[in-house]
Amino acid sequence: MPAYRGRFAPSPTGPLHAGSLVAALASWLDARAHGGSWLIRIEDVDVPRCVAGADQVILHQLQTCGFVSDEAPVWQSTRTALYRTALDQLIAHALAYPCACSRKDVELALQEMGAPRERHAELVYPGTCRAGLTGKNPRAWRLRTDLRSIYIENRPLAPVEYALSAIFLEASNPTTSILQWHDRWLGPQTQNLPQAVGDFVLYRADGLFAYQLAVVVDDAAQGITDVVRGADLADNTARQIALQRLLGLPQPRYLHTPLVLSASGEKLSKQNAALALDLSNPMIALNEAASVLGLARQSGAQADGLAAWVKEWRSLMLVNSTSIPA
Ligand SMILES: [Zn+2]
Repeated sequence: MPAYRGRFAPSPTGPLHAGSLVAALASWLDARAHGGSWLIRIEDVDVPRCVAGADQVILHQLQTCGFVSDEAPVWQSTRTALYRTALDQLIAHALAYPCACSRKDVELALQEMGAPRERHAELVYPGTCRAGLTGKNPRAWRLRTDLRSIYIENRPLAPVEYALSAIFLEASNPTTSILQWHDRWLGPQTQNLPQAVGDFVLYRADGLFAYQLAVVVDDAAQGITDVVRGADLADNTARQIALQRLLGLPQPRYLHTPLVLSASGEKLSKQNAALALDLSNPMIALNEAASVLGLARQSGAQADGLAAWVKEWRSLMLVNSTSIPA
């Protein structure tokens, strides 16, 4: 097994909040409990959502909590050449295709199909442009989710797989398109990718690479063995595993931490301007984050508290102690 490498990958859309601190703490503890490396990656690929200076604020907040990247942090905005190479690979093997649909087009197509439309639900792309653009201008690139090799486990990772990839699933048999994986916190997970998500965007109409592609490429390029992040991202996992399989990349282990809810029971997010994190006494915020993870309260010095949580995490998560330096 390769040496443990974990990461915390915040989007610089604002400072860390109580929810993102839980994910940061868990990813740091998991790396330390495994005697592994912990990296920081700034996920600024979605440029319109990023806030200038938020990356530096986040790095400073993490440092205040005692979390310092073991390698120089990386910014996704500097890595578009890597994403381009991956997209080109998928296009070359006909695993991705251009799409001319606007959001309105997708809504109309779903209506025509009589597909139920839940308010605020993600639009499931109906595959309109799979058969070609019929003269329309391409806006985005999408991944085919009806490829047999997405759903085959334990196949060898080799370039020859690309040839096999182009075997399409029978549309009439939806049970063949269920992706299964194990989450170290949530347990066994499944998603029927074509039904739940549909062919998803890799390269956006606004000329930016999609989050899913960037994350998968970076996790592989950085040799990440373990993804530990908030449960708000759990729904992305199947898409990322699909991309790993089609690009011939190793699949990391996944662990999604519980969400922090506001007093009114809503998920904390940067949108509800949730509660800037008060780090004047980091142990107060860290204790709150630790309690979400089911860890005991620590009252001593910050370094001692963190060390105690590493020990507790190690026993809670049943990390194989023989692989961990004392
Ligand atoms: Zn389309």
